[in-house]
Amino acid sequence: MNVLKFGGTSMGDEHTWRQVLDIIRLYEQPIIVVSATARTTRQLIAVAEMAKKDLGQALTLSQSIKERHQKLVENFLTDTNHPKREEIKQACTEWICKCINKLEQKIKEIATQESLSLQTKDFIASIGEQLSAYLFAQCGQAYGLQTCWVDARKIIKTDADFGQANPNLQTIDETVYLLREKHEEGYIPIMGGFYGETGNGEITTLGFEGSDYSASLIGAALQAETIEIWTDVSGIYTCDPHVVKQARPIPELSFQEATELAYFGAKVLHPSTMKPAAGAHIPVFVKNIFEPEHPGTKIHDGQLTGSWAKAITYLKDVTILTVTSNGALKGHQFLAAFFEKLHNNHIAVNAVTTTEASVSVALQTEVKDQALYRKFKKIGTVTEDKGQSLISLVGCTFEAGKDIRDTVFAAIAEDSPSLISYSKTKQNLNIALSKTELIPAVCRIHDAVFTKQ
Ligand code: ADP
Ligand code: ASP
Ligand code: MG
Repeated sequence: MNVLKFGGTSMGDEHTWRQVLDIIRLYEQPIIVVSATARTTRQLIAVAEMAKKDLGQALTLSQSIKERHQKLVENFLTDTNHPKREEIKQACTEWICKCINKLEQKIKEIATQESLSLQTKDFIASIGEQLSAYLFAQCGQAYGLQTCWVDARKIIKTDADFGQANPNLQTIDETVYLLREKHEEGYIPIMGGFYGETGNGEITTLGFEGSDYSASLIGAALQAETIEIWTDVSGIYTCDPHVVKQARPIPELSFQEATELAYFGAKVLHPSTMKPAAGAHIPVFVKNIFEPEHPGTKIHDGQLTGSWAKAITYLKDVTILTVTSNGALKGHQFLAAFFEKLHNNHIAVNAVTTTEASVSVALQTEVKDQALYRKFKKIGTVTEDKGQSLISLVGCTFEAGKDIRDTVFAAIAEDSPSLISYSKTKQNLNIALSKTELIPAVCRIHDAVFTKQ
């Protein structure tokens, strides 16, 4: 059994829907996970935010989401001559109306309360996948495939950490029988990614790009042969191919390397995608719907060797926070106090360097919270370097005789890094630079490490 996931770009319009269905046809009854159609999740969140201030504008945007989906289905069905075409069209129209009604009812509540909770935001964001998965399953039938919609709420059970919910793996192992049942009945189940439900029936989401994670969760629970993430590029590249033209696809990566890449900004995969797949020893493939014959990238068990560095990723918006001890706390006490404050505020650290009396960390947030700022000031002097970015060279080995140090540092000789960190075990070289220096530096490092070798 194969689990195939198709992202927002693949769900873009009636042409890509046909392309995706042609790929599905190549497999023997796969299980499908889909994202919302391109741009929909962002628009839904914009609708929710807008509703706090301007209900009229929010309703206009919600109507445009409705019209876009209606048009997509109409365009798709126009070119099919399935005997049940009119019936399918009717079912799609009713579904779109139902979803948009739920959306509009919610945004009216937001407008009345003038506030938007994370729980309501998740409810609204999930509507994108609820629309796309149901409509795509209907259109699949019109295209001659035995597709059926399965509601992710019945399968992806999570905790109540709205916005970034944690799946309950044990429960999913049980609920996944619903997919297996449909499969045994001869269907190709289509499930929306990204969202799930708490034990109390509240809708949650797994964070941005979460459909990759959904696919991996059900792939692991079903003990699938492969988990395939189909997107608009032919695998994971040495750098974002839309930024660095010379970037090339990486044939193989270990689960750990792929996780690091995703964590340090390679948008092509949600960072948690590898966890369930690695636990169940199921290979993950990243492939391109526009070039299906390309092998793409295979992510699997094992430590791979054979190159100095696998890929360059970056985070565009980073703050370097430095706290230098005022002497009241020494060594490990100072570090423990510093990290405890970050932990209490749920702030993740992307890179760190320390001396006995000071610590610098790269964060994807500013320490705007004045209470937290004051707490840091109690243990030392605080400096915040805003407008920074973080470049990561993943799978980077400093082997004898290979002058990657010279290569990388020569490429950024004109820049002024604000933090550098490296761990031999994690094989990650992190360099923080001013945001204005980011893209030229990424291109120069890529050129030096991958193109000129
Ligand atoms: P989907 O809609 O299929 O989920 P995404 O937009 O989330 O697709 O991810 C695919 C995009 O990720 C590519 O179009 C590419 O611009 C970007 N990307 C960033 N880093 C990388 C990388 N190292 N390799 C491949 N793609 C990358
Ligand atoms: N639709 C969601 C997003 O845009 C989830 C996903 O596409 O993976 O983040
Ligand atoms: Mg994605």
